[in-house]
Amino acid sequence: MRVYFEKLFKGSRDNYLLQLKEKLAEETKTFIVTANPEAFMFGEQDPEMNALLLDEETSVVADGIGIVKAAAMLDIEVAERIPGVDIAEQLMIYGNELGKSIFLLGSKQEVIDAMCKVMAEKYPNLKVAGAINGYVPDKDAAFEEIKKAAPDIVLVALGIPAQEKLIYKHLKDFNKGIFVGVGGSLDVLSGSKERAPEFFINHNLEWAYRIAKEPKRLKRFYNSHVKFIFKVQKEKRG
Ligand code: UDP
Repeated sequence: MRVYFEKLFKGSRDNYLLQLKEKLAEETKTFIVTANPEAFMFGEQDPEMNALLLDEETSVVADGIGIVKAAAMLDIEVAERIPGVDIAEQLMIYGNELGKSIFLLGSKQEVIDAMCKVMAEKYPNLKVAGAINGYVPDKDAAFEEIKKAAPDIVLVALGIPAQEKLIYKHLKDFNKGIFVGVGGSLDVLSGSKERAPEFFINHNLEWAYRIAKEPKRLKRFYNSHVKFIFKVQKEKRG
């Protein structure tokens, strides 16, 4: 598991986002994985997830505090978390500034509709190249639509690891584009679901807020995060 931590972007959030703006301006193809403990746990079990995490073209950032703290346990210093929701929002802001295009794949149709409305209001220069909900039966066919549109930004909101695996499968067919698996970010950015209050975000307790709001997340949390902590401790002992 240490190899995944070594791949993490170690610098600041601001620095990462600025680099991203340059990549967007220069049309440098980029695939971002916003890693949480689940992502690394999947990597250990799933050869495809393992390959995409270790691919030198993949940019891996620490989505949550769990990854930052676990990295510190392994003496790997990561400056701070860079949440996927921040990356998604910042890409919309940069896309608006630079007059770029965006394609959304994933989340419920009503979330997609609300998101398109928000983007039209807040980011009028950002062109929506297409938007497909995440409940269509054939996600590969949806990706063929994305290829035809050749957008500058592609946000895929299907949850980990489906979103990363789908992007990775099709990435070679693109010449440009910033591709990110954004999980539940569109639910939040569209205003369909509230993000945790600032207190929780600032105290690194966003995960606790999400469990309190959606208790069904507890099992998922146990399966990934608690097992993850044991794994990292074992790795530390060598
Ligand atoms: N989702 C989807 N199709 C599916 C399953 C999930 O589009 O078949 C969407 C779901 O609507 C949500 C996102 O994927 O917008 C995953 O959200 P979740 O909060 O589970 O992701 P997290 O941020 O925890 O990774």
